[in-house]
Amino acid sequence: MTYRTLSLQCHCGRPSASIREVGFTSDHQLVLHWRCPDCKAYVYGLKPLNDCFQVCPTQEEAEEDSTDLSKLSETAIREMDAKFLQELGVKLPDCAEL
Ligand SMILES: [Zn+2]
Repeated sequence: MTYRTLSLQCHCGRPSASIREVGFTSDHQLVLHWRCPDCKAYVYGLKPLNDCFQVCPTQEEAEEDSTDLSKLSETAIREMDAKFLQELGVKLPDCAEL
């Protein structure tokens, strides 16, 4: 199965260690919820499901060997991740006090 991995980060830069909840809103958005182990913030990522189609690998990509991903440079992958994160519009509630 070919799929695109999302890399999610807290505003403090810490990658999410584990997603706490995955859900859907009444206005058809994907919700990813986790708690940052570093700054203890509750982080919510929202993504309209329609936009997810644009992130999905294409049929051509799916038919290629997944090792073809190695053709992409680190920089290209990073740029894709950054672009997605930006589009995801990660919303941060007020940082919880420790
Ligand atoms: Zn954090």
